[in-house]
Amino acid sequence: MQHKFEKKINDMFVDPIIFTQKFVKACDICICSGECCYYGVYTDKSDYEKILSVKERVIKYMDESQTKDVAKWFEEPEEDDDFPSGIAIGTEVHNGKCVFLDKQGFCTLQKMAYAEGEFKWKYKPLYCILFPLVIFEGVLTVDDEHLASMHYCSKSQNQVSTVFECCKEELRYLLGEKGFEELEEYREEYFKNLLKTEIKVEVSK
Ligand code: SF4
Ligand code: SF4
Repeated sequence: MQHKFEKKINDMFVDPIIFTQKFVKACDICICSGECCYYGVYTDKSDYEKILSVKERVIKYMDESQTKDVAKWFEEPEEDDDFPSGIAIGTEVHNGKCVFLDKQGFCTLQKMAYAEGEFKWKYKPLYCILFPLVIFEGVLTVDDEHLASMHYCSKSQNQVSTVFECCKEELRYLLGEKGFEELEEYREEYFKNLLKTEIKVEVSK
């Protein structure tokens, strides 16, 4: 597929909108209740297998608002090239929220990792870690459609930062330290070019 994006890092095109899209300074589930998790998420087949391999432990950390019936946790697999295995499997929605979201707005998969002294994102699907970032048709961009439906982080009065600034840890996780440095360099270059273009437009007026 032909892309209008010029920069590629780790075999992924980068949409510069990630540098300019306004966003909250930090996620705060005490305010948003983890609203982005209300609709479930698509996981890669490998994430799905990883979660099922620890299902007994996951169940231990669930509360009464969640279903402990493992057969109700996932949708049918679908082919999708934006997932490393080429297979995407959605998490089901139960009680109006992802099956893994507890009644306080915490992800059970992350809660379990914390409680067991493991890396916090060990069991969390990549697209959950990344939101509002997303990889769509090979491009790292912003999931503007899903973001627009949020009641807290989509409101301009709360958007005092940018997706890039808020999601540096997530971007480091996705791209690795070297890839992140490359992204920072691209950001600098992008703003320099933007400034040059603006100056040219001003001069030609
Ligand atoms: S992305 Fe928005 S809805 Fe999701 S946790 Fe962050 S602030 Fe809350
Ligand atoms: S798996 Fe966890 S982070 Fe992902 S949508 Fe479900 S509750 Fe949210």
